[in-house]
Amino acid sequence: MKNKIKIFIIFILLLFNGIIFGEAPIFSGNIAYQYLTKQTNFGPRNPGSKGYENCKKWLIDFAEKNSDEVKLQNFIGKDPKSKKQIPMTNIIARFDPKNTKRIMLSAHWDTRPWADEGNYKKNEPISGANDGASGVSVLLHIMELLNMNDLNFGIDIVFWDGEDLGRPGHTYEFCQGSRYYSLHIIKPKPQEGIVIDMIGDADLKVFFEGNSMVFNLDLMIDIWDIASKLNYEKYFIKKYGPIMYDDHVPLSYIAGIPTIDIIDFKYPNENTNYWHTHNDTADKCTPKSLKIIGDILIYWLYNR
Ligand SMILES: [Zn+2]
Repeated sequence: MKNKIKIFIIFILLLFNGIIFGEAPIFSGNIAYQYLTKQTNFGPRNPGSKGYENCKKWLIDFAEKNSDEVKLQNFIGKDPKSKKQIPMTNIIARFDPKNTKRIMLSAHWDTRPWADEGNYKKNEPISGANDGASGVSVLLHIMELLNMNDLNFGIDIVFWDGEDLGRPGHTYEFCQGSRYYSLHIIKPKPQEGIVIDMIGDADLKVFFEGNSMVFNLDLMIDIWDIASKLNYEKYFIKKYGPIMYDDHVPLSYIAGIPTIDIIDFKYPNENTNYWHTHNDTADKCTPKSLKIIGDILIYWLYNR
């Protein structure tokens, strides 16, 4: 009898520790980094390119193996320079697809067709290791971990197309995939979301982002507090950084999914710029930075 009571107490303790339901898995920066180089090895992934087509097949295949349901949103986007219409695809990997209590994690999978911020080969497409592959790599590994460790709410992991197909200064030309989704929401609609973008930088410094503060202040504070709890405060700084027009803007404004943007826009720092140049390559990103982001997101997911 005593033993039965003991076993019962241990069971209850395990339950409250989340060991039985939703034990937090361990995120590996090295695995995520392999997914980053897998993408960059396809070459530039600007819409319509060979690298884009090959990477798309690989992402869809990965999502089909590692989630409950995959939805593809095919739509016609636009190249604002050539004025040509381009077929595009948002890739949506869903967990517990009927659960009405759900959240969204997303990143853009397309890369920029021009190196317009650099000083050479300005009209050629970039590798997009940080601006494209980094966010997707973290979410691919999270997808794998979610597949093995159930949660009691639904999750949509989304890879946006056409995020980076806009001319400088024409913000409305960017974020084509998230805008399309926001007008064609896959239901049930997530209650909140996180966008990750440019988070592979070896010199990772993520600041509060102004639009995120307006869209979902509580979530922004939660994430930065989790970073402090995990001893990552020197990478997640509680000070204001640049205000970004990113996929969280259509998601929050049009879809009504209050979303924050985790982005390190100074790549690598105030003095040097790899963003939208041919220097945005895999060697500028590290497994460690991917792990910091992965650890924070996993902690958030498994302690909600
Ligand atoms: Zn970009």
